[in-house]
Amino acid sequence: MNKISPNTMALAPNTSNKKQTVCIFGTGDFGRALGHKMIQAGYPVVFGSRSTQTSSLIPKEAEVLSHAEAAQKAAIIIIAIQRQHYNFLTPLTEILRGKVLVDVSNNLKINQYPESNAEYLAQLVPGAKVVKAFNTVSAWALQSGALDASRQVFVCGDDMEAKQMVTDIVHALGLTPLDQGSLLAAQEIENYPLQLFPMWKFPILLSLGLTTFFFFYSLIRDVIYPYVYEKKDFSFFIAISIPNRICPILALILLALVYLPGVLAAIIQLYRGTKYHRFPDWLDKWMLCRKQLGLVALAFAFVHVLYTLVIPIRSFVRWKISSQIVSQVLNNKTQPLDNTNAWLSDSYLALGILGFFLFVLLGITSLPSVSNNVNWREFRFVQSKLGYLTLILCTAHTMVYGGKWFLNPSSYRWYLPHAYMLSLIVPCTVLVVKCVLIFPCLDKPLRKIRQGWERNPQYSE
Ligand code: NAP
Repeated sequence: MNKISPNTMALAPNTSNKKQTVCIFGTGDFGRALGHKMIQAGYPVVFGSRSTQTSSLIPKEAEVLSHAEAAQKAAIIIIAIQRQHYNFLTPLTEILRGKVLVDVSNNLKINQYPESNAEYLAQLVPGAKVVKAFNTVSAWALQSGALDASRQVFVCGDDMEAKQMVTDIVHALGLTPLDQGSLLAAQEIENYPLQLFPMWKFPILLSLGLTTFFFFYSLIRDVIYPYVYEKKDFSFFIAISIPNRICPILALILLALVYLPGVLAAIIQLYRGTKYHRFPDWLDKWMLCRKQLGLVALAFAFVHVLYTLVIPIRSFVRWKISSQIVSQVLNNKTQPLDNTNAWLSDSYLALGILGFFLFVLLGITSLPSVSNNVNWREFRFVQSKLGYLTLILCTAHTMVYGGKWFLNPSSYRWYLPHAYMLSLIVPCTVLVVKCVLIFPCLDKPLRKIRQGWERNPQYSE
């Protein structure tokens, strides 16, 4: 329920027990499912249909009449018919005068028509009070009772009394009405069921692109290069080594990309000297999907942890350790403990553990059940301050782990640097720019701009 930022006031239910007859036009899948649910909730239901013959599919407690006869029996009429057939309502205009018409329809494409179906219905039947509702609930969910994911019913309409009547029905069916305001909101409500994870599209496509890039990059460096130059077959790296390289790299880059738009927005605001100019569309969209970017990053970090846990039981790793021991025995020479290496390895593990812990904390606080229980300042503290701390720890974890290769020319293969070096570009850029923005000479004007101050006011008093 991200797209529609609702006035999520759940309207109060009607306390009276007596249920009014509800008329449903259309005995199709949705009409029947809704009728069945309403009968269960105690509403007398009458169907308006082109054919008055009842079928075994129609609930036997309901009457099936012609449209005109059925409409006269109820104050509320649910139009469970596709928009393209609404013309049949024109001859019924007089009968429908003053009635509440509930538009439940959806379209096949986003913004398919210039006006919403509900507004079109209101134009066709001018004397009726049109309310948009139920379009986000499926016939299958109504029938099977599997309403967990779609318990919310967006309701909008211009007539408050009509909206309240529909809201009472929504409550009686065990659903949650969410008042979206006037009929102007209908188009957005109709577009809602047609969207496919809108906020997840960019993070998922980006992760797919980066995964593909880093997979082939690592394949060239770590499998093809040793095969060409040393005739060594490391193709088994594809199973664990390469994924375990890609996962931390993606986790770090995506986490940095969560904070990059904020930094860019600050630069734009400082440059323009005002916050009253819109950001470019791409930046707006990027900012809106930061939570999803962060959650995808957390998923990669989590997989990295799992891959890391299996390292000691890998055959290649056990072979490497045993051959080192054998070589020490054969040479009768014990290798002394390299203190620097021990420090580096313990530090990078500690940084990784702390970074992952904070990463998980960030993920948990972004869950609605948690974020709804903290105030705005607490949420910003966790997502901004702890977020940057996580980014610093994870960047340091990568630097300490890969640092030894960065300046070593032998780590370049076919002039390609180690993938870890590439993974540090975005996080280091974000952290450096953020550090610069903290300087009082930039931080002060930025704060003022964010409080509404303008360098060159557009409207001077
Ligand atoms: P359906 O199974 O195709 O039923 C549509 C009904 O409309 C028909 O059974 C018919 O009822 C009536 N009809 C068809 N042509 C007509 C015409 N020329 N004139 C008058 N009535 C006509 O469709 P549905 O799945 O029930 O969907 C109905 C509406 O609910 C659609 O607007 C849809 O977008 C919306 N909706 C459906 C679902 C869902 O899960 N199915 C979910 C949300 C919203 P009679 O034979 O009784 O006249």
